[in-house]
Amino acid sequence: MGNDYRILVVDDAKDNVAALSDWLGRKGYRVEAASSGEQALRKVHERPPDLILLDVLMPDLDGIEVARRLRGDKASRRVPIIMLTARRSSADKIRGLRAGADDYITKPFNFEEVDARISTMLEKRDLYHALERTNARLKEVNERLKQTLITDEKTGLFNYRHFCERVTEEFKRAKRYDSHLTCLMLDLDHFKRLNDRFGHLKGDRILRELGQVLREGARETDFVARYGGEEFAILCPHTDGAQATTVAERIRSAVEKHKFVVDNRTERITVSLGLATFPRNRSVRNETTLLEAADAALYEAKRLGRNRIVVSRGQSTRSRSVTRHTR
Ligand code: GH3
Ligand code: MG
Ligand code: MG
Repeated sequence: MGNDYRILVVDDAKDNVAALSDWLGRKGYRVEAASSGEQALRKVHERPPDLILLDVLMPDLDGIEVARRLRGDKASRRVPIIMLTARRSSADKIRGLRAGADDYITKPFNFEEVDARISTMLEKRDLYHALERTNARLKEVNERLKQTLITDEKTGLFNYRHFCERVTEEFKRAKRYDSHLTCLMLDLDHFKRLNDRFGHLKGDRILRELGQVLREGARETDFVARYGGEEFAILCPHTDGAQATTVAERIRSAVEKHKFVVDNRTERITVSLGLATFPRNRSVRNETTLLEAADAALYEAKRLGRNRIVVSRGQSTRSRSVTRHTR
């Protein structure tokens, strides 16, 4: 049987080491030897083997202590240890197992038994490693899945579903801590014209780039999402109307200035924004009415001529334009 397993034999008795090395070598294992506990610890730490045969009775550092230390070392924590004990000493066996040994072989050796125990142990170890690898992969996939579930694939921003979850959460927080919460709704102006001129795919690219501009314009604690088609939402926790208007104006102006390149030509785009703040706005009592108020303000911004910000004052009819940029 040929294999690539490395086995470390630890025994202070040279003839034991020689007999085991000889037998295991003939079975195809690669065998290394250590004649003391100290030497074994050093060797394992440098390059952990696949399995350790560990004598219990050794001068200085005995096998029990070596096993304990191996279990405490990250490099060797998972390396299987088979103790070599005197036939009668069940106390040694118990102490060995308690110290971290996985199995034991009694002296004098029955080599067939040694072989059987080693291969069983290595099989278990391989299964365990496979399980660990699968587990790590599963964790990774799970993490990616989680990301996918909250991400809008077209823009890389958060998606509608996740935005709704966050609004609910942030609204509860704002109520409990008596803090401000502002929601910004944003919609591209005359986007249909761009789609008609350049096609849907290039329109998509503009949406992605706009997403980037929004992320850069918003603050780190703001929560930028694609709300639907060409509509975006930004949630600003701990932000009152005045602060949010500053953010909104920065974003509006950043979009207006940004050079979107389509078909080697620079295209200018503008956006309209509506914003509503809890708790200043009387019509906002929950997350739904917060979104409705911001949406009504956005609608008003469109009606007033686009490329502007409207702050909801409680009722959409009383919304007012805070900027007067028209093209
Ligand atoms: P307004 O200034 O009133 O918002 O005008 P508009 O043309 O932007 O608005 P309208 O609601 O009439 O049209 C929205 C357009 O947005 C139409 C639709 O094709 C486009 N749109 C929505 N979602 C997507 C998308 O995911 N990709 C692309 N390329 N276009 C989209
Ligand atoms: Mg639009
Ligand atoms: Mg729209």
